[in-house]
Amino acid sequence: MSHEPILTARHVTKQFPAANGRLLTACDDVNLTVCQGRTLGIVGESGCGKSTFVKMLVGLLAPTEGEILFHGDDITKLKGEALRQNRRKIQMVFQDAWAAFNPKMRVVDIVTEPLLNFGLIRRSERAAKAQELLEMVHLPKEYIDRYPHSMSGGQRQRVGIARALALEPEIIVCDEATCALDVSVQDRIVELLVELQQKKGISFVFICHDVALVQSLSHQMAVMYLGNVVEVLPGHLVGTEALHPYTQALIGAIFSTRMDFTKKIESIESEAPSPLDVPAGCPFQNRCGHCMERCRREKPKLVEIEQHHEVACHLFSR
Ligand code: SF4
Repeated sequence: MSHEPILTARHVTKQFPAANGRLLTACDDVNLTVCQGRTLGIVGESGCGKSTFVKMLVGLLAPTEGEILFHGDDITKLKGEALRQNRRKIQMVFQDAWAAFNPKMRVVDIVTEPLLNFGLIRRSERAAKAQELLEMVHLPKEYIDRYPHSMSGGQRQRVGIARALALEPEIIVCDEATCALDVSVQDRIVELLVELQQKKGISFVFICHDVALVQSLSHQMAVMYLGNVVEVLPGHLVGTEALHPYTQALIGAIFSTRMDFTKKIESIESEAPSPLDVPAGCPFQNRCGHCMERCRREKPKLVEIEQHHEVACHLFSR
């Protein structure tokens, strides 16, 4: 299978109006690529801009600046029916499957609703199609008659994935899709995503605040801080090759049985500033133990350190 780039965000910025005529910059000049049959993980604390970014990928928000190219076409310019058709190809699985479903709908209705909306099946075909979709996510086909409240969190998330699969998308965006689940259930959902990727060549964008989880399934992992991408590197190298002081701090703060739990747990110094008060220069300066005078006046650019490894930090700029 080729792993060609299929979705590319170029210089994507998103600003929201705030009180007193100010602007909140949720994403600042983000450049990221999703490749066919690969997983792009995005990690960072709450408010880092990762959810805003993926909402732009699926067309739920429009960027203030920049373009998002899907097979070379800028999808930020799509409107009406063209935008609706594009949504078939990029689907989303939400964090809270409970809130995402209408509690009065049975599983058969939930997973086949997108197919009916696009006129791809007749109503008489719903049960057979729903059973086929449940089989893909390893749920018993009898579950088509269940309601969301009679299922566990992990089962509901499988229904969410089945619904996302219904339109045979090229990309599935998982927005904190495993965060509300127990660790063992998380692992089984991640195994399912990997299996679906291998069988169907689907690309995933997986966002989460858990570095250990994201690196375990990401071919490339992007670290975001206050709307900026500060490091991009292959997931399997995160534990050994991560360079940015913020990535290092995230790794140091992990309390997870997935990582080496004999290591001392370190917390990140102080709090992130408000996204309304991002300092000039490096956004991480007030929490960085390596901060230099240059960091306070000049914002570091994301530069390639090695193939597939980029860092935005003056410690590594040439
Ligand atoms: Fe720290 Fe300076 Fe690097 Fe920012 S640019 S992470 S303040 S060393």
